[in-house]
Amino acid sequence: QTSTKSPPLPSPLRFSKFFQSNMRILVTGGAGFIGSHLVDRLMENEKNEVIVVDNYFTGSKDNLKKWIGHPRFELIRHDVTETLLVEVDQIYHLACPASPIFYKYNPVKTIKTNVIGTLNMLGLAKRVGARILLTSTSEVYGDPLIHPQPESYWGNVNPIGVRSCYDEGKRVAETLMFDYHRQHGIEIRIARIFNTYGPRMNIDDGRVVSNFIAQALRGESLTVQKPGTQTRSFCYVSDMVDGLIRLMEGENTGPINIGNPGEFTMLELAETVKELINPEVEIKMVENTPDDPRQRKPDITKAKELLGWEPKVKLREGLPLMEEDFRLRLGVAKKE
Ligand code: NAD
Ligand code: UDP
Ligand code: UDP
Repeated sequence: QTSTKSPPLPSPLRFSKFFQSNMRILVTGGAGFIGSHLVDRLMENEKNEVIVVDNYFTGSKDNLKKWIGHPRFELIRHDVTETLLVEVDQIYHLACPASPIFYKYNPVKTIKTNVIGTLNMLGLAKRVGARILLTSTSEVYGDPLIHPQPESYWGNVNPIGVRSCYDEGKRVAETLMFDYHRQHGIEIRIARIFNTYGPRMNIDDGRVVSNFIAQALRGESLTVQKPGTQTRSFCYVSDMVDGLIRLMEGENTGPINIGNPGEFTMLELAETVKELINPEVEIKMVENTPDDPRQRKPDITKAKELLGWEPKVKLREGLPLMEEDFRLRLGVAKKE
């Protein structure tokens, strides 16, 4: 017996996709630091339409002001822990506070954002057939016992500590991504981002590079948390955005580390900022917070081989670019 029902009409999106090659891209957390730089790059391509959803917890409209009113751009105030109905081809899912002081401020909200937020974006990806990229983090390696960290390392994470809302939250988000991939055939991409810095970071967000630059410009002591020998590897934001787009456009699900392997102790970082920005400031040792990872450096073999990506901007080149932006925002002119 043949059905009298007519076949479903193609969705408006699929229909338009058939005739033109425009790409509609959702960026969650697009009003934040990395997200707004990603939006700048995506908007450069005239075939892209970009929709940003953000609840402005740590991001701001100011970061996107040059796009507001642009016909290919849309900004929606929305919390990813709530259901979202839009029709898109790709989802860059960044929404989540990244700085320890903000993600610890309301840890329950942070874990909801990571778990329910990611679940919602996966449900959306499933409904519309979109490819989804999650910005996970080097924090999934916890206080690593292997150095540098390859993607195959499972990590050393405290499940009940003050950072757990963030690092365990991201670990569950990665699990959800792979379960939707295996169970529902969703196209997924996972980037494990290592410490990233650059213009538009929140001035007082507590992360080490923004703290040191703001302190140096205000003539305050640089606060190195003890012991100061702990290491991080800092990636300039333009390199990060390049890596994320390559991952989205490529054929590999990941997880893939995206970061700069140049490794520095926090004392070395303080000395570099002092030398480049304000040789007169002092370096002061202060108390640290619990569970601070002692070392962190990405193994980027996979990114090099699978994405043809490696960072180009060295710390000494990136810091002055960030200094310029912080001077403007803090109103501190450069001495001639
Ligand atoms: P950010 O805090 O500047 O940006 C996060 C954005 O998400 C903000 O605009 C914020 O308002 C928004 N947001 C937070 N919770 C939300 C919610 N529930 N609903 C909607 N929007 C929400 O941080 P960032 O440095 O740009 O980080 C972006 C992503 O990259 C995050 O997922 C972060 O975990 C990841 N990451 C960043 C770093 C880094 O060094 N910056 C390192 C590892 C991973
Ligand atoms: N979801 C969403 N937008 C959509 C489709 C789904 O926000 O376009 C959310 C939905 O609210 C649900 C989650 O994604 O809570 C998971 O959706 P899925 O369809 O996978 O699961 P189910 O709704 O069957 O529990
Ligand atoms: N840190 C510091 N001084 C500061 C802020 C942070 O020495 O004013 C140290 C912190 O103890 C950690 C490193 O810098 O070892 C990186 O901290 P951040 O919060 O930037 O990022 P994390 O990698 O810990 O998420």
